[in-house]
Amino acid sequence: MGANIGLILGSYERDRAKTCHTKIFLGSVEPRKDNKSMLAEGMVRDVERYDLFLDVFFKDLRFEGKLFITLESKEDIALDSVGLRISNVSGNGKTFDFEEKGDSLLVRSGHFKGRLEIQYSGSIPDALAGIYRAPYDETYVVTTDFEPANARRLLPCVDQPACKAEFKLTVRIDRELDAISNTPIESVRMENGKKVVTFQVTPKMSTYLLYLGIGRFEEIKQKLGNIDLLVAGTSGKARNGEFALDVAKKSLEFYQIYFGIPFGLPKLHLIGVPEFSAGAMENWGAVTFRETALYVDQNSSFGTKKGVARIVSHELAHQWFGNLVTMKWWNDLWLNESFATLMGYKVLDATFPTWNSWHDFLTNETSLSMNMDSLMNTHAIEANVKSPSDIQQIFDAITYGKGASILRMIEAYTGVEDFRKGVQNYLERYKFSNATGIDLWNSLDEISGRDVARIMTEWIGKPGHPVVSVTIDQGRIVLRQERFLLSGDHEKKTIWPIPITMKVNGQSRRLLLDKEEETVNFENLKSLQLNPDRTGFYRVQYEELGDVVLESEPSAVDRWGMVFDAIAFLLAGKMSFADYLEFIKRYLKEQDYLPAREVSDQLASLYSILGSRIIDVSRQFHKSQLELLEDKVDETSAMMRGIVSARLATVDEDFAAKLGSRFANYGEVEPDMKQAVAIGYARAYGNFENIAKKYSESTSNEEKVRLLVSMASFEEPKLVSQSLELAEKGEIKRQDQIILIEAAARNPDAKDVSWRWIKFNVSRLRETYEGTGTLSRFFQSCIPILGIGRVEEVERYFSENRVPEAENGIRAGLERLRVYQKFANSVLL
Ligand SMILES: [Zn+2]
Repeated sequence: MGANIGLILGSYERDRAKTCHTKIFLGSVEPRKDNKSMLAEGMVRDVERYDLFLDVFFKDLRFEGKLFITLESKEDIALDSVGLRISNVSGNGKTFDFEEKGDSLLVRSGHFKGRLEIQYSGSIPDALAGIYRAPYDETYVVTTDFEPANARRLLPCVDQPACKAEFKLTVRIDRELDAISNTPIESVRMENGKKVVTFQVTPKMSTYLLYLGIGRFEEIKQKLGNIDLLVAGTSGKARNGEFALDVAKKSLEFYQIYFGIPFGLPKLHLIGVPEFSAGAMENWGAVTFRETALYVDQNSSFGTKKGVARIVSHELAHQWFGNLVTMKWWNDLWLNESFATLMGYKVLDATFPTWNSWHDFLTNETSLSMNMDSLMNTHAIEANVKSPSDIQQIFDAITYGKGASILRMIEAYTGVEDFRKGVQNYLERYKFSNATGIDLWNSLDEISGRDVARIMTEWIGKPGHPVVSVTIDQGRIVLRQERFLLSGDHEKKTIWPIPITMKVNGQSRRLLLDKEEETVNFENLKSLQLNPDRTGFYRVQYEELGDVVLESEPSAVDRWGMVFDAIAFLLAGKMSFADYLEFIKRYLKEQDYLPAREVSDQLASLYSILGSRIIDVSRQFHKSQLELLEDKVDETSAMMRGIVSARLATVDEDFAAKLGSRFANYGEVEPDMKQAVAIGYARAYGNFENIAKKYSESTSNEEKVRLLVSMASFEEPKLVSQSLELAEKGEIKRQDQIILIEAAARNPDAKDVSWRWIKFNVSRLRETYEGTGTLSRFFQSCIPILGIGRVEEVERYFSENRVPEAENGIRAGLERLRVYQKFANSVLL
């Protein structure tokens, strides 16, 4: 799955297989009462193939299914099934008794070998998971989204990644509709006035990768060798997929060479779905996207364009890493996601050399994940998951960003070429099958001759990350490691094997810090720097340096690293507020995007926590940056100008008024400035009707999102309330409601109304985002901001109103809230 783009907004941002029998885990026969039945445990069974015939009644939003499962089972068969009405189960000439219990279908078949036939029916709800209706204009498409555990909402199956099988799908639909699935259409025939579409059999694959889309689609097409690359979208939209199609083509070319294995399917669809919970989903040969992650038009900002390229390249990496070779169980989800994340940036770096994509890797992946990993309530990269709601909640920054950062650290350790050969070895060995992290480390060990398995096991298995402190003692470097905790607490038990890189007197040095403390001797020690280029997943704190100085010309990445650590040290009580402000002021004239953007992000976060106490510094920094950007015309500067302007507009009324006056000619505003202009207009002019009107008139999802963010930015809380009411009335896409709410929560003027609104709407939000994991991520990011000044009330609320599917995020959010409150108290005293 692609990163959840909605919640990144605060910072602007899956050769035809041979049929073969593999031993797999089938669900346990007796489901447990907690509905966690079918997942981790069970008995060994064989499933070979699903032959599914679906009669879809598009207007009635329902379907009837006839399913044949070719399998062998030594005892009664247990299948995963949610929300389906089973009418008959038979096989080998017999009709079987069956029982629907919780989320499973139990078939009293006894020992069975052959084709089990199940007749059933189901409905198509307004949801964001399983099979659902995705409305647009006055109509809709029917689409599916199954990862991690929602294929069971379309067909009874063994819904586990290790249970790979072939799928042969046939759908009967209204004649004017189109259908898209993983493989090309094999045949179309007419039957009783309806169209019967049969798709080619899929390769052997996991259930979560199955896709079905039905509606009126328009397509654009390119070719790569014999592969058809297509963008499919609702009316008039597909033409905005040209850029994504180009990136897809370049990505496939890159991966076929990097992995040394051809793509394999005859076609690949990129499908724009009008309602979609994540950024994208890697269904094999039929990748789905939310529209803002696929389409680029003349009004798209550079940030959107980069986001589209990042998500397309990520999803296409999954076609090998995830789809061809799949994790055995969801505890290794990170392997899919981390790897696809790392590979996506490799493609971007090769395809768009001017984009500084590894810089974006630091801000999007390393930075976000390290922030989350600074809490006690983080989790090890390799997660312990049993139920579907456990799984949904681990699609987070740790699984994507920390995992990718650790893989990058290991690539630096093995060398780029050995890393690639190890990966090729692994994919070749496990294709059309399943594997674990250990299988990958073993492949990397074999090729590189280095002890990757030992280092990785510790980094993957332990929650948190270290801070390495540096002291000079009689000319010797003393390095100490300790787990970094944002709470400022000390936890000395955990020790990591840290591959340390440093510059000593201008020369590169490496060592493995494998214990709590190590002393290193260097002749004539004069200058020093740890973790240059930030390839290591640890923080650095310089303590007593004596006469030794830091390397005189730290790079943009190094400057970014120091700024990035500074706010963590500030919040953890390792740096005073006065020292922090003095440190930040050294960056007023920072010319490089990476560190300047980090300072801007920090000031925006601090503004959400401290409000007016930080306004002067924020105004001074953003004004100074705006002046520096004045004559710059490159894409990155244009993007930065937009970000800086939006932030200045929230802390400077005069600037907001001047900027907001451009809203009269909004159509002509350059794309990267549109968000800022809309925010300035909302702040200075407070005209809800005008923005809401533009929102309802706009056909671009990107534009709608900008306007939503501006409607959350009003200075007048009543107006923010009015915006939030639009979500209640269903006038905002389900996928986008969370963006509005999160933006409102970050607006210091609207905290009270946002908190009140969330309390009253929790059950509606739970229904809207059921099965998606969205609320866990949402609470994690909102609680720390909204809860300032009412910690006890927020804690009490969540202990009295349990949201089990978001518990991890709530716990992490509450922990961060306590840190922020303590910090705010110390500053505002
Ligand atoms: Zn992914």
